[in-house]
Amino acid sequence: MRKKIPQNTKFIFVTGGVVSSLGKGIACASLGFLLKARGLKVTIVKMDPYLNVDPGTMSPYQHGEVYVTNDGAETDLDLGHYERFISEDMSQMNNVTTGQVYNTVISKERRGDYLGATVQVIPHITDEIKRRVIVVAEQTRVQVVLVEVGGTVGDIESLPFLESIRQFCLEAEPGNVITMHLTLVPYIETAGESKTKPTQHSVMRLREIGIQPDFLLCRCDRHLKRGIKEKIALFCNVRPERVIEAIDVSTIYEVPLNFAKQQVDEKIIQRLNLKTPAPDLAQLRKIVQKINKPDHKVTVAICGKYVKLRDAYKSIMESFTHAGVANNARVKLKWVDSEDVEEHGPEKYFADVCGILIPGGFGDRGIEGKLHAIRYAREKHLPFFGICLGLQCAVIEYARNVCKLKHANSLEFDPNTPYPVIHIMESQKSVKEMGGTMRLGVYPCVIKENSLASRVYRKERIYERHRHRYEINNEYRECLEKNGMVMSGLSPDGLLVEMIELKDHPYFIGCQFHPELKSRLTDPHPLFVNFIKAALKFCK
Ligand code: GLN
Repeated sequence: MRKKIPQNTKFIFVTGGVVSSLGKGIACASLGFLLKARGLKVTIVKMDPYLNVDPGTMSPYQHGEVYVTNDGAETDLDLGHYERFISEDMSQMNNVTTGQVYNTVISKERRGDYLGATVQVIPHITDEIKRRVIVVAEQTRVQVVLVEVGGTVGDIESLPFLESIRQFCLEAEPGNVITMHLTLVPYIETAGESKTKPTQHSVMRLREIGIQPDFLLCRCDRHLKRGIKEKIALFCNVRPERVIEAIDVSTIYEVPLNFAKQQVDEKIIQRLNLKTPAPDLAQLRKIVQKINKPDHKVTVAICGKYVKLRDAYKSIMESFTHAGVANNARVKLKWVDSEDVEEHGPEKYFADVCGILIPGGFGDRGIEGKLHAIRYAREKHLPFFGICLGLQCAVIEYARNVCKLKHANSLEFDPNTPYPVIHIMESQKSVKEMGGTMRLGVYPCVIKENSLASRVYRKERIYERHRHRYEINNEYRECLEKNGMVMSGLSPDGLLVEMIELKDHPYFIGCQFHPELKSRLTDPHPLFVNFIKAALKFCK
């Protein structure tokens, strides 16, 4: 049965052209922000045209961070931007990949659901893509669903998604669907001009497919002259007032303000026949001002193995921006490759920083360097923050150097270690497949009274998101505790250690979960806020 497009939901499809990395995710998140600020209920869906079912099995070098939702889906990092901008929790439904679409269609075919039909890209794959958008509308009951299509127009693999949008425009109530295209308008120095041809070509490709964009978002590094906008409008068959500048800004949180200045949100709701009051952007303006002109600054190191590809730590970077605002400080991040620390020692890299963060990760490369970094932070009383693998490394370092358990390790890195202080979780032992099988999503954690964690959170029970297979081995808990490590956060049954800290250290915290996934601009995460506070104090 084909699903009917609901008549009381509005849909905005956003495609991209010319080149990737134009900031489509941020653009969608910003539009979502503005519509929500107008009192509308909004959600955002990311469509990824790759064949992986989800990015969970991809290397961070391929894909950047894997963003984990409350319900435990491993998703595209753009969902992180959506959550941070619109402050709504995303779920599994909000990320659709070609892999998922084909998986569903092929399973149906094997079950015989297609009753003898030849199963084809059109209509079966395109129907499944549309169904997934409709399901989001039905289940979330939002007024506006924004849909971002990953990739760039002209890619073979995104064709079924674009075809689905074309059909969607045809089948939905007129006035209920908007298509937007994000394109690049480069300034060519030698010609002294902003050039419109790449945009013309990109829109031409879209129109060949049957999609006429209603709005163009033109990424540019300087304002576009009126003549340029008019030229784009004429050649692309878009009204001039709907040719919008997406100009480079100093912080991504300025993008909604820039769109609002051009009344994009007003133009969208008019086009969708909605009536809402203008948004109040005073708070965002204040925050952006604080990001751009804070009174203090502080440098903290991120010591990991993907430091050459910052996208792997997107949410951590944003969490630091949020925590910076809360501390009226600019947080400068010093990226330190843990393999370099292994080779040259910690002094060279950390003598000038006010705190060290060890982020999550997999595999044994660079582990010894991380252990050096942690020992340095512990002994010098430098604020330390370990996330997931960072907590596990802190435990290994403590076991080796304080508890004197020589060659203590995680079974992930050394299956023959005499002291497996980190071992595979019981629930993971039977796992055979790699995709979507880690301990994923939100779990409760009970905070120990009078601990640093309880001063940070000011709560007895917290809910944080996880993505890991390994865990502190309970056999070593007593030994670690006897030597001064505090297990400051436990699963409600007491069996899993979720947070650790050190008694004789001003600020040393490790957590098995990923707090960076829950930090919001208007609701910065206390673990980041307090880490920066401690860093500022350390360097005073
Ligand atoms: N590799 C570790 C584990 O699987 C840590 C994972 C992480 O840091 N996300 O438990």
